Amino acid sequence: MSTSSPPTQHADLVIIGGGVFGLSIAYHYARLEAGRVLLLERNALATAATSRAAALLTRARAKTALMPLIAQTYADIALLEMELGESLDLRQVGSLHLAASETRVRELRELVIVAEQAGFRVEWVSADEASRRVPWLNPEAVAAATFMAEDAFVDPYRLAMAYARAARMYGASLRQRIAVRDLRQQGERITGVVTDQGVIYAGCVVDAAGAWANVLAARIGIGLPMAPVRSQYWITAPDPLFPRDHPMVIMPDASAYSRPELGGLLFGLRERQSISFDPCQLPDELSGFALGEEGGWSSLEEGAPRLRRFLPALDQLKIASHISGLSTYTPDGLFALGPASGLQGFLAATGCSGAGIAAAGGVGLGVARLAAGLPSPFDLTPFRIERFGPVDPLSPAFRQRCEQARSSKTSG
Ligand SMILES: Cc1cc2nc3c(=O)[nH]c(=O)nc-3n(C[C@H](O)[C@H](O)[C@H](O)COP(=O)(O)OP(=O)(O)OC[C@H]3O[C@@H](n4cnc5c(N)ncnc54)[C@H](O)[C@@H]3O)c2cc1C
Repeated sequence: MSTSSPPTQHADLVIIGGGVFGLSIAYHYARLEAGRVLLLERNALATAATSRAAALLTRARAKTALMPLIAQTYADIALLEMELGESLDLRQVGSLHLAASETRVRELRELVIVAEQAGFRVEWVSADEASRRVPWLNPEAVAAATFMAEDAFVDPYRLAMAYARAARMYGASLRQRIAVRDLRQQGERITGVVTDQGVIYAGCVVDAAGAWANVLAARIGIGLPMAPVRSQYWITAPDPLFPRDHPMVIMPDASAYSRPELGGLLFGLRERQSISFDPCQLPDELSGFALGEEGGWSSLEEGAPRLRRFLPALDQLKIASHISGLSTYTPDGLFALGPASGLQGFLAATGCSGAGIAAAGGVGLGVARLAAGLPSPFDLTPFRIERFGPVDPLSPAFRQRCEQARSSKTSG
């Protein structure tokens, strides 16, 4: 991947952003042999939200529109492993979904119906059986539990870079250290991008710029219905309490999830009041930019009573790291994908709502096909960017709706 030669001046598809969305779109478009695809990333590939994800790939979702997109990610992982001749180390440890309250038991029953209808392997397990599989779990906190054996997690950076390598194998051009500053518009058509290294003309431009997607969309008068919202998790030091292959655990009553990580426990907690950011105030590169208090101690303190109920050893654990990053949340927790009405040659692929690794395959295939003028194999209407009507994504009121979507998220 050279960073010194001048960029191609024309491509059938230009993708802005080399996160997992952009890379998956590049891969699928190149695989379709629909034309020349050029991806532009201003930093290094997959170093923004993508590399910070916990990357739980839970298949059954209350938001059922996500499920075929997630299924595509599993299909892609198998295909990428074949095409690249290497394992992506998909960790199929299964997911244990817990309910501690009546409301959550009811929701769990509904999720099980959804999972069974999709043909997934689902097993109701007793509280004692749940704590046998997850040694740190307090069985007294569990009113109902189900185990979905086929669920997995993955290293998100490895997955994204597998998309990158396979995309290049199919002829995609991926350029790093090149920033898009503006979009070129002629009448009702987007005709290319203005970069810090010149203009590049394009038949179609995909805005997959993650937390920054609205900075560019605003230049052509589009408000994408999402805001960058902080997500965070903690990883404990290795401890015999956490077997390396024990299941992922989803705890909606605690607004928490967990998975094993190198002999320790990775756990995420959703704050009661999430924090969003104005994309125009974000630096181009987030490393070194404070997304809040170092260590996330006050969030941890706020969430600890909820989590302690399930994980009584919480206070004795040594926290080894704290990871925070920006997901892009929409008010309904679904993505922002597809065209803007009245505008040709432009597609959005953002609003990941904390599920962008899980659904990367479906987003990539669906958007790549739209870019190639082909129908999406999935119903993308739930993800239409205009479904909330006209929005001002920078307004405090709208950002608050996006924060609320994150605070109330209950899935893995
Ligand atoms: C703490 C945390 C935990 C998470 N856990 C999970 C999980 O368990 N499961 C899951 O599925 N998802 C999870 N996610 C969400 C997941 O990380 C995102 O959904 C996914 O990475 C989104 O990918 P993206 O390509 O949209 O964005 P990004 O990875 O942020 O990529 C966008 C890219 O665009 C580039 N860019 C921006 N502007 C420009 C420009 N003008 N010119 C050129 N390039 C530009 C940026 O540099 C960046 O590299 C988590 C996220 C966080 C932060």
